[in-house]
Amino acid sequence: MAGERLLLVEDNPQNRRLAQFLLKAHGYLVYEATTGEEALELARAHLPELILMDLQLPGVDGYAVTRWLKEDATTAAIPVVALTAYAMQGDREKALAAGCVGYIAKPIDTKGFPAAVQHYLAPPRAQGEGASS
Ligand code: MN
Repeated sequence: MAGERLLLVEDNPQNRRLAQFLLKAHGYLVYEATTGEEALELARAHLPELILMDLQLPGVDGYAVTRWLKEDATTAAIPVVALTAYAMQGDREKALAAGCVGYIAKPIDTKGFPAAVQHYLAPPRAQGEGASS
């Protein structure tokens, strides 16, 4: 169901524009952050339903930003999905260890991206450990 508010953390303007375009077309409201500090600020201010986190950011990387979000009681329950160009299993594990619920591979697959996002917004019923809102 569309209308959910997402926070997109991505420093690359082309990736950001593409993700924003695809998500907006599917009815999502998307806040944009280009740095970790901005991400934290927007997450606290808007409490989005989901955060899409580029792992490679200038300054503080996405792993550290995810850990900040998870350590902050205000934002800890918001699921964070890593956006990663890394194909290595170790990096995916690192993202999960930082607190991400999963990852979406870059380059962004224009057909599959909205469905991948939707998947994390509406996890299967068996996955009941998260917040129910
Ligand atoms: Mn990046």
